[in-house]
Amino acid sequence: MEPFLVVKDLKKYFPVRKGFWSGERAEVRAVDGVSFAIGQRETLGLVGESGCGKSTTARLILRLLEPTTGEVYFGKTAVFKANKEEMRQLRRKMQIVFQDPYSSLDPRMSVKEIVGEGLAIHRLARGKEKTERVVELLEMVGLGPEHLGRYPHEFSGGQRQRIGIARALAVGPELLIADEPVSALDVSIQAQVINLFEDLQKELGLTYLFIAHDLRVVKHISDRVAVMYLGQIVELAESDELYRNPLHPYTQALLSAIPVTDPKTKRQRIILEGDPPSPIQVPAGCRFHPRCPKRFDRCDTEAPVLREVSPGHWVSCHLY
Ligand code: SF4
Repeated sequence: MEPFLVVKDLKKYFPVRKGFWSGERAEVRAVDGVSFAIGQRETLGLVGESGCGKSTTARLILRLLEPTTGEVYFGKTAVFKANKEEMRQLRRKMQIVFQDPYSSLDPRMSVKEIVGEGLAIHRLARGKEKTERVVELLEMVGLGPEHLGRYPHEFSGGQRQRIGIARALAVGPELLIADEPVSALDVSIQAQVINLFEDLQKELGLTYLFIAHDLRVVKHISDRVAVMYLGQIVELAESDELYRNPLHPYTQALLSAIPVTDPKTKRQRIILEGDPPSPIQVPAGCRFHPRCPKRFDRCDTEAPVLREVSPGHWVSCHLY
């Protein structure tokens, strides 16, 4: 598959002070050498605990943040070298749906204004044509013309997220980054919104980077899944392969937390010791070693690299 979005050795370090009184400086390695590619119309799920760098990765791709080093290519355009006009085009082609539908919609704007804003900014439609396009977008996400004049507080969480999706679609994007789009929603609503993402992908030929902290959420929607830990990808594989044959001890622990529906399948819950370490003090060697149930001597001193251990299945662990 031709790569559509390519991310190469992306790093983002934030400078911080070590303590309130101390002048000593440190850095938060939020994203520390992330590489992947997504094919056109493909969905890559990006999963990890909060603070692992997945949202920072999303913001870097969209150039809402400047990287410390690394490259991102959208088609043939080098995103970090794009000039003003190229960036304007990219902002149309790459859109984001945010996690929290409560804070990401301006409460003073009507649905018509929220969804129509991008159309006006990019001069894609105005007047009657703009209203018709907004209605079309609302219908695409399961809402209707009766919602045009209403305000965000009049909607449920699921409906607000539909408005957020319509807003993202308004400018005709090719890549949609969904940053934990269902995490704030009731479990009963999550499946409906994920189904909507799947239907829209088929209808509009979209490419997705779908971010979640729960492997269960990305299972059905993703063609491939990448697992992140402390700023790095530790495993990446086709979705079926990853769920059937997880190799990295961290992926195994995340999967063990998902309840199995088939009574014949037995899965023992792996409880990880401790919380994720701070990205200011990244452990030496394998950064997962303080929590890893399978660590051995080499893990404390030598950092593993992400290697392809079978076709399309990449893992960063000394066990392989
Ligand atoms: Fe665990 Fe060692 Fe593999 Fe790291 S390299 S995940 S510590 S076994």
